[in-house]
Amino acid sequence: MALHSKLPELQSATLPKPSYRLRERLDNTPVLVFWETTKVCPLTCLHCRAESISLAPPEELTTQEAKLLLAQVASFGTPKPTLILTGGDPLSRPDIWSLLEEAKELNLKVAISPAVSPKLNAKTIVRLLGLGVQSASISLDGLENTHDVIRGISGHFKETLRAIDTMEDYGLRVQVNTTVMSKNKTELADVFALIRSRAVKIWEVFFLIQIGRGSDIEELTPPENEDVARFLFEASAYDVLVRTVEAPFYRRVSHQVATKPENPMLGDPGPLYSKLSKKLKDLVGEADTEPTFKPVYTRDGKGIVFISHSGSLYPSGFTPVPLGNIKSESLKILYRNSEMLRKIRRADISGACGVCGYVELCGGSRARAFTHFGDPLAQDPGCLFAG
Ligand code: SF4
Repeated sequence: MALHSKLPELQSATLPKPSYRLRERLDNTPVLVFWETTKVCPLTCLHCRAESISLAPPEELTTQEAKLLLAQVASFGTPKPTLILTGGDPLSRPDIWSLLEEAKELNLKVAISPAVSPKLNAKTIVRLLGLGVQSASISLDGLENTHDVIRGISGHFKETLRAIDTMEDYGLRVQVNTTVMSKNKTELADVFALIRSRAVKIWEVFFLIQIGRGSDIEELTPPENEDVARFLFEASAYDVLVRTVEAPFYRRVSHQVATKPENPMLGDPGPLYSKLSKKLKDLVGEADTEPTFKPVYTRDGKGIVFISHSGSLYPSGFTPVPLGNIKSESLKILYRNSEMLRKIRRADISGACGVCGYVELCGGSRARAFTHFGDPLAQDPGCLFAG
């Protein structure tokens, strides 16, 4: 069935809406500011968005410029955005400790996404905790062989599990990130069972965007995305918070499943869902409760922004549409006044997303739209409604 033909029906769907207060908040202040601290990383992962390298390029922010960035994030006032230190590997930045001290002085909430390498050890974890780092996200992309192939290092899977255990032992909150692509799509239930067995409470699943070293990696088809979204919603019934990146249609699918059978738009699940769902139950048993739909209204450019290693502002790390540079411009002014970000925030999006009733709640991945059409305001070709 061509789902596009049903789109007008969706416009009248009764959907949750963000409050005026939340809209205002998202127009004025990002919830999350991602900063690509460096492009340097000891790993050379197959799908690396940042195309990591071993020596810092000259345009990378200096310590002084980085401190200016921290001050700019703090300048949004209360509630301040959470600063997520990504890379590359943030621990590969020689001045990372002095920057964390500065962030603590500024009372910033900080989370970090370190690479699993010898630099991430018990001593480092204790130091991160001492500087008030709130959580760390670690990537786990599949079972042992798949993970090691994707990360490019034999034995990396075991090191990753060790790193997760060490962080848990020391009380640093762990989030596991998984990038889903054709190569690992059938192992998602296994990854979920693994992280649940380790008491990890947050699982963030990135739906591959074909940029950086991931340009030639096979992404999922729209029906597969639908199946994975449906599986993830099912997994969210267990005691792990499931989030997605570059798959806002997860919200549409979750809402549809949660409002079944009243929601006429829900098609039958496909074979990938059936396989993952069966595996999930085989590995962790039935959930005690039904999954609950929780609306989320942020998306790239709306509550979320990304600052590159050189200070360029983008809607996200996967949407390299430059909006200005914090070396010479105010992050606050750029975030509030950028015409592109304003369009994203008011869901001024074309194609199927533009006429979809879920546009406010979902809005499609701006990164995938940009990668496929060169237009960050085009429809998301990864969604079954648009693909
Ligand atoms: S991706 Fe676009 S078409 Fe699909 S549910 Fe979201 S807004 Fe609708």
